[in-house]
Amino acid sequence: MTPVLSALIAATVALGGWVAGWLTAGAAVAATAIGMSVLTGAGLPGLALLGTFFISGSLLSRRGTPGARRTIAQVAANGWAAGVGGLVIPFAPSLGWAVLAGGLAAAQADTWATELGRHSRHSPRLVTTGRTVPVGTSGGVTTLGTVAAGAGAVTLALVAWALNANTSMVWMPIAGVGGMLVDSLLGASLQVRFVCPACGAAVESRRHCATPTTPVRGLRWMTNDTVNVFGTGAGAAIAALAAAR
Ligand SMILES: [Zn+2]
Repeated sequence: MTPVLSALIAATVALGGWVAGWLTAGAAVAATAIGMSVLTGAGLPGLALLGTFFISGSLLSRRGTPGARRTIAQVAANGWAAGVGGLVIPFAPSLGWAVLAGGLAAAQADTWATELGRHSRHSPRLVTTGRTVPVGTSGGVTTLGTVAAGAGAVTLALVAWALNANTSMVWMPIAGVGGMLVDSLLGASLQVRFVCPACGAAVESRRHCATPTTPVRGLRWMTNDTVNVFGTGAGAAIAALAAAR
């Protein structure tokens, strides 16, 4: 697809996401850039994969936290590999498609695991130690969430297969679940955790009870979004290695 047509379609969809309350203005700009790159490199099958991820993720997370818009950091963390893949496709089609599809499969697996895993009747367990943790804790996994991750990645692989995209039906789900696992492992180990000085709660945000929180463990720069950057990258790397065999 030509870059101009790609930019028009991507901007229209991103504007729709902003109007619908799914995206902040900055997130809409990032989504436009990623969409333009994916459409230019991967055409309609690329648009279908990106659209499946964007719409399913937005609908699922709207049910979880109504009114919350995706930020620019969240969009970039989930979509950066797809954007890079789109840029690579004209020069190395198999590699570019693997990075695009593997990155999106990981983002989709993680989003579905997070949003659907909330509804588990069992408490999540930390992926590293097996200790029971409160719902929403980074690195906490449930059986329901893990099944949802696989279902999300398989759904994306089916869309790719139906449109005859240059991807692997076998490796896309593996890359998706693998990326989600890296995400959980980093979330359980290196992700920064805070304590609220006002109420004493262990939290994952920099502010709580209208006061700045204190970091207590993990790496200061390893936020939830940074963890997502690595998870998406792991999915892209697994698919790229498989394509290079
Ligand atoms: Zn507090």
